Amino acid sequence: MKNIEYIIVGDGYAGLFFAHQLIKNNKSFVIFSEGRKSASQVSAGIINPVVLKKFTTFWKAQEQIDFLTQTLEEIKSYTGKNYWIGSSIHRIFHDENEQNLWMKKSGNEDLSGFLSQNFEHIDGVKNDFDTGKVIQSARLDVSGFFNGLFDYFEKNELFVKEKFDYTQLDVKVSSYKDLTFKNIIFCEGIGVKENPYFSVIPINPNKGHHIKVKLSREIPKDITIKKKHFLFPVNDGLHFYGGTYDREQLHHHIDDSAVVQLVKGLSELYPHDFEVKEVNFGFRPTVKDRRPIIGNHPDYKNLYVFNGLGARGILNGCYFSKSLYDCIEENIPLHAEVDINRFK
Ligand SMILES: Cc1cc2nc3c(=O)[nH]c(=O)nc-3n(C[C@H](O)[C@H](O)[C@H](O)COP(=O)(O)OP(=O)(O)OC[C@H]3O[C@@H](n4cnc5c(N)ncnc54)[C@H](O)[C@@H]3O)c2cc1C
Repeated sequence: MKNIEYIIVGDGYAGLFFAHQLIKNNKSFVIFSEGRKSASQVSAGIINPVVLKKFTTFWKAQEQIDFLTQTLEEIKSYTGKNYWIGSSIHRIFHDENEQNLWMKKSGNEDLSGFLSQNFEHIDGVKNDFDTGKVIQSARLDVSGFFNGLFDYFEKNELFVKEKFDYTQLDVKVSSYKDLTFKNIIFCEGIGVKENPYFSVIPINPNKGHHIKVKLSREIPKDITIKKKHFLFPVNDGLHFYGGTYDREQLHHHIDDSAVVQLVKGLSELYPHDFEVKEVNFGFRPTVKDRRPIIGNHPDYKNLYVFNGLGARGILNGCYFSKSLYDCIEENIPLHAEVDINRFK
């Protein structure tokens, strides 16, 4: 039997940011990956403190951005790579009313640090009413982040590349196959539905597609454009456009209507030819009250769940990985807003 402090099940943002807390605090662990492309790996990587429909912000947005910046620096110190792309979001205005609303909101105390008052015009895309820049928005280099951390796990023999088999877990003696552990953290995204200990938590899958396209004419490279969806450059001369939201069509293959929706959205924004080169999809683990679900099992106290990251996997995953770590190791209570016990 090998004795370790933590087992992590799941290799998306929840699992990786929690693993970082363990690395930082010199805790022993292994992380299970079933080798499927997670929702996290198909995500756009947008880091955004503003709700772009209504021009509002959300709970602890500034704290979350600051904490992410610091965390990515820490991860850089042992993987050797930078994953922060300083490309700010430019939100295209539909009309003058939106411009006025943005300007008004930019005077609010909670939004003045996020909404720029200088409207900018972007060449190469349709933006008759210009754009508003979201200050402090950025992007994560998604593939770089996963490659960097997966390489680190592999080199340090932390990676278990197999599907975690719940029937092999002995909760009475805290063992799994030839491992004994102190705590186990389940970070399976929508895969939690198969977990007999936490399948009841109210996670709703929300399917998202993105397309990667070849544009026929250049657009500015250093910004992220937002109209219906996000548009920005990725590798190989392609651009990412997405993602859609769908709570109904939850089958595990590409949904043609989502692709049609994306092509239409991009055509309205980009008035030149483009070619769709790739389509990907994933399932966001969402919760009705839009807050993560964190906490332990009512009977088996060393079984924890870290889920419900919703549409903001990066900020939520990063920030609340520390809340969970502090709860386990320092006995600091979780915020009531994210505590699993709110569903009792
Ligand atoms: C198209 C799209 C675009 C998005 N864009 C953004 C964005 O720009 N910014 C942002 O912050 N968020 C974005 N999101 C949301 C974000 O992707 C999710 O919040 C996030 O991926 C959830 O992370 P997670 O770790 O909880 O789950 P997941 O990413 O789904 O990871 C869970 C992992 O656990 C594995 N797993 C499950 N069960 C087992 C088992 N038994 N054994 C081993 N492994 C297991 C799964 O295979 C999976 O790899 C987007 C989502 C989509 C779909």
